[in-house]
Amino acid sequence: MIGEGRLTREFVAHGRVDDCPVIDTHAHFGPYRAIHFPRWRPERVLDSMDRCGVRWLIMSAHAALVDTERGNREMAETVAAHPDRFRGWWVLNPNYPERMQRELDGFESRQQALGHGAGPAAFVGFKLHPNWHETPLTDDRYRPALEYANDRALPILSHTWQGKGMSSYREVAQVAGEFPRIPLLMGHAGYGDWEESAKVARDHENVYLELTAAYSVRGALEIMVEFAGSRKITFGTDHPWFDPHYGIGCILSAYMTDEDRRNILYRNAQRIFDLPLD
Ligand SMILES: [Zn+2]
Repeated sequence: MIGEGRLTREFVAHGRVDDCPVIDTHAHFGPYRAIHFPRWRPERVLDSMDRCGVRWLIMSAHAALVDTERGNREMAETVAAHPDRFRGWWVLNPNYPERMQRELDGFESRQQALGHGAGPAAFVGFKLHPNWHETPLTDDRYRPALEYANDRALPILSHTWQGKGMSSYREVAQVAGEFPRIPLLMGHAGYGDWEESAKVARDHENVYLELTAAYSVRGALEIMVEFAGSRKITFGTDHPWFDPHYGIGCILSAYMTDEDRRNILYRNAQRIFDLPLD
């Protein structure tokens, strides 16, 4: 096996390793049209998490991609029911600029209501999906959200993918340069443009590579570790689209050290999102 080492041996033997928790920074919640997910309901999600040693799951509601109001509300309710395991991403849709301020106000009041003013926030930040919403990440319609996040050093997870003018490393570099206080997670690590995306993460302190879907390409993980370093990579799965064991297995069998694996599986996310691991 490629990834010989203590973590690999123990994950293979037990399916999880108690002193190596996992934080999944890119998951989704709820059913989705035209596909059957056997494990989207909270009790099944928690069962998957427990089997793989996933301590925290940070997710956005599928419904919120279309109807932000309904989906973000569903997400808030689900996080409130399991505040010790789930956190949410608040989805914003740039196609309704007249609603943007209301959505930002809604985020703020949801945070205060669920955190009771002092407790942990239900949402860790914003989820953007330039391709789904057919709006380049650099479009002005995102500006109110980016300014809001930059003022508060609030994390953003954006879908990123190769291709000109939408959500590639080029758009990320531009936004990260202009809004340097936003911890910006490149969902799918700029899929396809591995080396260029890793260099953007290397050159911008607050840009991170998130691994969902990147597992499907042999060698991509090693390129990211080489160019950006394991402190700039976070674990993610798109759960319930993919099972956490698959992503964990790819990290265990890639060429890197156990220290790199711990950085990717939980240390970086713990630092970015300030999540307790006990
Ligand atoms: Zn996703």
